[in-house]
Amino acid sequence: MIKKVEHIGIAVKNLDDAEKLYEKLLGVKSYKRETVESEAVTTSFFQTGENKIELLASTDPDGVVARFVNKHGEGIHHIAFETDDIEAETERLKNEGFILLNEKPKRGADNKWVVFVHPKSAGGVLVELCQERED
Ligand code: ZN
Repeated sequence: MIKKVEHIGIAVKNLDDAEKLYEKLLGVKSYKRETVESEAVTTSFFQTGENKIELLASTDPDGVVARFVNKHGEGIHHIAFETDDIEAETERLKNEGFILLNEKPKRGADNKWVVFVHPKSAGGVLVELCQERED
């Protein structure tokens, strides 16, 4: 099942500038920076109570996040829901007719398995399912 909103992903142009802005906004510092090579992004995480904010900056001018920012500008990129069984939830959403960007969970930032749901099947919102990785 889906347990909660785990984080909101925000696409930014410049990670240093965005970190400064979010540190001011939230009153806390980023607790982690991590590059995910397969997605061509560097992420920066902020804890806000139970939830997190994930800033995403492209490491490649042709990467998915760079293309998103070029098209839409900086802003909300995805909503991530935590699940206790990512394979079962992926199967459930597939059976419900959602279009999955990857059916097999892949390694995401901050120690997670992740599956993405295409925004065109989810009301215009890029949805991430995530589950804590044990390794
Ligand atoms: Zn995310």
